[in-house]
Amino acid sequence: MAVSFRYAVHTDLGTVRTNNEDSALASPRLLVLADGMGGHAAGEVASAVALRVFAEVDQSSGTELASEFLRAGRLARRALFAMSDADPLLESMGTTLVAVGSDGDRVSVGHIGDSRVYALRDSALYQVTTDHTHVQRLIDSGELTPERARTHPYRSMLLKSLDDQPAGPDLDIIDAQIEPGDRVLLCSDGLSDYLDPEVIGATLMTPDREEAAAELIQAALAVGTRDNVTVVVADVVDEDSDPASATDASAQPVLAAAPVVVGAAEDGVSLSAEAAAALRGCLPEMPFDSTAPMAGARVSTLGASTPANENQGQTSQRGASEQTEEAAPSSTPSADRAQSADPTSSADPTSSTDRAQSADRAGSEVSSSTAGWLTAAGWSAANGEAGATDPDTVPVPDAPSKPLPAVLAAAAVVLLAVLLFLVLG
Ligand code: CA
Repeated sequence: MAVSFRYAVHTDLGTVRTNNEDSALASPRLLVLADGMGGHAAGEVASAVALRVFAEVDQSSGTELASEFLRAGRLARRALFAMSDADPLLESMGTTLVAVGSDGDRVSVGHIGDSRVYALRDSALYQVTTDHTHVQRLIDSGELTPERARTHPYRSMLLKSLDDQPAGPDLDIIDAQIEPGDRVLLCSDGLSDYLDPEVIGATLMTPDREEAAAELIQAALAVGTRDNVTVVVADVVDEDSDPASATDASAQPVLAAAPVVVGAAEDGVSLSAEAAAALRGCLPEMPFDSTAPMAGARVSTLGASTPANENQGQTSQRGASEQTEEAAPSSTPSADRAQSADPTSSADPTSSTDRAQSADRAGSEVSSSTAGWLTAAGWSAANGEAGATDPDTVPVPDAPSKPLPAVLAAAAVVLLAVLLFLVLG
């Protein structure tokens, strides 16, 4: 199999904010969404830098995605710590992060914070991730219903995030059993705090994923989301059995498509000279400017000429008209401010066939008009062994340990030997 993603990525400032602290990235084998937090422009810095670090996973040749996610998480944490240590304005910055990646055969999910991954399968919506929040803990202990949690005053209180604490927790790694034919949604809490899962599921069933992404954003705006709202809608496909790659021999390999980036990571962030130096010192081999050959989060390091306190709340790297647009009051029609990014819209010749094929495929698979709703526990149950993996048991490239497949193979051999003994004996 050659499992990959066809995707649509949309973000919007929401009805109140004038800056976007969300960042998202989508490529044929990697989907990432980060929702930054922190005073001044620190939230944008945290989400953009974390996204940039995770963009490297897309370039790596490694196939142990769980390890790559853990390693990227630790690297991002080190970078955030170095920057906040160098620049007091960045102190306590952090970000949520969800990452969904394909190694060709399998889909892995990495998760920290309260951004979510949902999966739509057979007209049922599953929440794949479990929020690392105070209210989720109250839900787990039976003290709060999920419905009441969405309006709880402390619903945004995170128990875990990717922040500037160097010894902070790893990402949760979820062996999600996501398969070709599934549709996945990555979203920030600007969506999930404001919409019922039933609404999310029903909207996600819109066959065209671009329309589905746009409608999700519109639904959140319609109920007055005050937060930035970002969605990645992706159809999971098997390239080997996909009609588009089979019938169109001239189509470029889809895996060559450049990643699409939106939000703070696309806008770019401005850093003080101190933070810029700290970032470069921490990640010397990672290009952080817009001229880098691969698309990814851009982090502008403006250097000493721009004092840090002039950068607060602003984004750089965008054209003058876009700057004005972004700073406009919320009376601007929000649809106009929504950033839409079609991975195939500019250079990729597969664009039109891709979208049409998506509509056909999804249309044939989704027949019911209302999505069911199942929790993370439901998703685990529906997938047998699926569930969170203890990060301590996942090998990370930086600290080599015995690969999991070898352990499983050894266990299988032992089991086989015992069975043979029992049968023959
Ligand atoms: Ca948010």
